[in-house]
Amino acid sequence: MKNIIEVSNLVKNYGDFQAVKGISFDVKEGEIFGLLGPNGAGKSTTLEIIETLREKTSGTIIVDGLNIDTNPNDIKKIIGVQLQTSGFYPGLNLVELINLFCGLYNQEADPKTLLEKVNLYDKAKSKVKELSGGQKQRFSIATTLINKPKIIFLDEPTTGLDPQARRNLWDLIRDIRDQGTTVILTTHYMDEAEVLCDRVAIIDEGKIIAIATPDKLIDDLVATGFERPKEMKQANLEDVFINLTGHDIREL
Ligand code: ADP
Repeated sequence: MKNIIEVSNLVKNYGDFQAVKGISFDVKEGEIFGLLGPNGAGKSTTLEIIETLREKTSGTIIVDGLNIDTNPNDIKKIIGVQLQTSGFYPGLNLVELINLFCGLYNQEADPKTLLEKVNLYDKAKSKVKELSGGQKQRFSIATTLINKPKIIFLDEPTTGLDPQARRNLWDLIRDIRDQGTTVILTTHYMDEAEVLCDRVAIIDEGKIIAIATPDKLIDDLVATGFERPKEMKQANLEDVFINLTGHDIREL
């Protein structure tokens, strides 16, 4: 599969502090790629540089064949970046917001079709503040799709959501990937990365310390002789929660 993003020797200094220490990685077209790592590892810095929102100190970045140094504006046209919904105009409803974004991006998009895609068709006339957490996240994902991007960037898309809403979002992200869009996301939920990401990079103190499929990383750890303390039960509290409250989304 073709590399849609190629990062080589990326460095970012903030004054004397080196937040990103010469990392290199590729993202393949059509995959869900996870960037994992503790707070302060350099994930947001790395993503924001690729998104053309932050200047790098050095290194090379190629996005879909475009060099970020010479073609940042062409890169902007083929990516979708998730914004926090708190920044959306509070007085506008979802259709009005999408129309506003269309104007900003100079794009034609049918708000109803977009809302249908993220299962918010019934909320077309609602304001963002009237949405639940999961609905807000789905709406902000919808806004990343307005310019029909080849790649979308999602920063902790499921943080703070209940278990059903998280699963619902995983389905949405998979649908987007299945329709041909490459997805790069960050998450602190390892269960999420394990089921959702085709490959993950683990970044720590500005360096990539592992990059592979979740399966391969787990197999490599097991091969070292690692054994998880035996779980005594066949289910966990999350299973109880899902079992009791059902798999349906409450917030449609
Ligand atoms: P992550 O997204 O993995 O939590 P960040 O990329 O936000 O990490 O931050 C990496 C490091 O760079 C942290 O130590 C953070 O304090 C520092 N940092 C981030 N942004 C700035 C900035 N604008 N000025 C100075 N230091 C920054």
